[in-house]
Amino acid sequence: MFSVKIRLFVMNVILLHFQKSKLTIMLNLQSFVFNGFQENTYVLSDETKECVIIDPGCYTVAEQNQLANFIIENELKPVRLLNTHCHIDHILGNNFIAKKFNLGLEIHKEDLPVLLATTDYGHLYGFTVDPSPEPTRFIEADEIIRFGNTELEVRFTPGHAPGHVVFINHLERLVINGDVLFYNSIGRTDLPGGDLNTLLNSIKTQLFTLPDDYVVHTGHGPSTTIGNEKKYNPFVGENAS
Ligand SMILES: [Zn+2]
Ligand SMILES: [Zn+2]
Repeated sequence: MFSVKIRLFVMNVILLHFQKSKLTIMLNLQSFVFNGFQENTYVLSDETKECVIIDPGCYTVAEQNQLANFIIENELKPVRLLNTHCHIDHILGNNFIAKKFNLGLEIHKEDLPVLLATTDYGHLYGFTVDPSPEPTRFIEADEIIRFGNTELEVRFTPGHAPGHVVFINHLERLVINGDVLFYNSIGRTDLPGGDLNTLLNSIKTQLFTLPDDYVVHTGHGPSTTIGNEKKYNPFVGENAS
């Protein structure tokens, strides 16, 4: 009896391990660096081949082709177009992706004014903006975004932009974080709708409540981890002044 139990236990452990590693292998995160702001665009796909496109910043035809060809060559099926927030560098490819793959746009409703203003201020940055379509659905705080077999938890993280959200995958222990946290830095708060105290509060309550090993995929520059930023971030880490 004892040995049977042990054997069952061992088998369960092997099965669990097998299932987890199988799922772990199949979630794929692909990033691209696009436009003059060096913005990170993300495509997240799983074993069903369904994918979501987050913050398509592709601006030139070459960048548009790079993103579209990745999706087509890997036989991915885009099912959702998501923005963490609607600053110009994150939405330059919205119209291209929406049309190319027949997708509706999903944003948090507090960022709608940001989206609508982008076309007007784009020329200030020297961009001829291909106007983004308006959203077909608003993303809610704390909801679960689903595609394929994958779940992304939404957390509402205003401060850099009024309707900023992040997307968390707990299985892969990763965050698609837009411009909230950066490697040893934080998002700027001097743009319309920005507020430093709101941003610091978002980081402390929505991101620093995650385990230290969660990888934070940022809107610009290298990825980081929750643990690294808790310790070393000069604005919100342990030794922040
Ligand atoms: Zn931004
Ligand atoms: Zn940005």
